[in-house]
Amino acid sequence: MNQQTPVIYENGIFIDVQQGRTLPPSWRLEVRNGEIAAMGPKVFGRGGERCIDLGGAFVVPGLINAHAHIHLAMPAIAASLKTFLVGRVLRSGQVKRTLTSALEHGVTTIRDGATEDLGDSSDINRMREQGLLVAPRIVQAVAVSMEGSCWTRQRGMGTRVQHALAGLPHLTYEHPRSGAVTFPRGASSGEVRAAVDKAVMERHARAIKVYDQREALVSFRPGAPLMSKDHLSAIVEQAHAHGVPVIMHQFSVESFRRGVEAGVDVMVHLPLDEPLTADDVSRFIHGNTILEPTLSLLGALCFRGVLPSFEEKRMATVEKLRHILIGTLGDYWLPPLARGAAADLQRVARGNTKLLNLLDFSAAYAYHAPLINHGVSNLRRLFDAGATVACGNDGGIPPLTAAMVGLELAHLEAFLDGSENRRRFDALHALQAVTGNAARSLAYENLHGVIEPGARADLVAYGVNPLVDASCLGGPATAVIMEGEVVFSAPV
Ligand SMILES: [Zn+2]
Repeated sequence: MNQQTPVIYENGIFIDVQQGRTLPPSWRLEVRNGEIAAMGPKVFGRGGERCIDLGGAFVVPGLINAHAHIHLAMPAIAASLKTFLVGRVLRSGQVKRTLTSALEHGVTTIRDGATEDLGDSSDINRMREQGLLVAPRIVQAVAVSMEGSCWTRQRGMGTRVQHALAGLPHLTYEHPRSGAVTFPRGASSGEVRAAVDKAVMERHARAIKVYDQREALVSFRPGAPLMSKDHLSAIVEQAHAHGVPVIMHQFSVESFRRGVEAGVDVMVHLPLDEPLTADDVSRFIHGNTILEPTLSLLGALCFRGVLPSFEEKRMATVEKLRHILIGTLGDYWLPPLARGAAADLQRVARGNTKLLNLLDFSAAYAYHAPLINHGVSNLRRLFDAGATVACGNDGGIPPLTAAMVGLELAHLEAFLDGSENRRRFDALHALQAVTGNAARSLAYENLHGVIEPGARADLVAYGVNPLVDASCLGGPATAVIMEGEVVFSAPV
């Protein structure tokens, strides 16, 4: 998409995300080959440029969703037969809808946190680069995982049949397009490093994903083994040797500690089983680890009736945000899927957690529901201590999509609201979480998440100042620019 004709953007109020200030309206921006070449009041180009008038809009860097699963496009976990069948038929159409709606909502970069078939993301990126598709760029993570662990259980006929029924691809871990590279239990550090090399060089990983959980995914049955601390350290060291960040999926204090000790770059989700100690918090902060709370999971997975006890005020906030989510499903899902998602969420709220009224998914809800208790409290501890928060929403977990970054920011604002004299997640935190901090999480600082010379020219324009009213972030944008080209502009 690197256009040859240079462009000058003028009459916009550019926002310096790091300093949290607006630049004078006289500042102009020159874009060459998709990159910001110069900016300031005296940028007049060298002749031959196109001039684009931003109409006085406030302009921020392209938004980044640092954690989503783009190719999961089923609108409900506990789906009714109708939703399931329609979801299966419309899967690829819905993936396209997610990409389009992400751009409309200002999201120009999405990190895919793990997928079955890496070809799905590389196809999107290739078509985008060839100008055949207008979509956010996908930054793909590849899982490096021990055989038999929660994410890479041994696969047999059963998983093949499950994937076939759900209309999902199914690849062996050895397949060059598989989203997971495995190493054996008891592997030497050399074997683990070789798995990382394979993820980076053969599978083109832009992040290494580590799953650390004692419960098998999907079934949530306990007994999944964890890799050793040596394995974990070998992954981190080898990924860093390639300049690739390590992101860790975890939901327990035990895993959180293991990740911090091994030096992972990004902690995804929140420990929900017990409180973090002051020592845990201080180690996390000193490790410069980035936190991606994926707090939107509350709305997707946390229901009254599942938990014996919770703070009523927190549950009321979850329900209020879920109500907003249900009201906006049509902006993100194809119409039949939006209707299915809403109906199925309401079914779960009434206690029906069965897929096709047959397969019980109550374990998934029971496992995640304590996010509202220790999960939220741990988030507050980490944020109070100054943790760097990046926006990732786990889109792909139904009914969340990768485009819904506004909802993630709304969750963070609601649960880090400054009550009880605590640190407040304000407009600048929201803006930094979805731009600069997310770029850091991707190891793309200076290239994304900032408006400055040398950065990719990804820009989002709004009619209001996001430093004053952050609720515009992740909402419909006035205009979206990717690599210097206008890829979306709102109908006037
Ligand atoms: Zn995820």
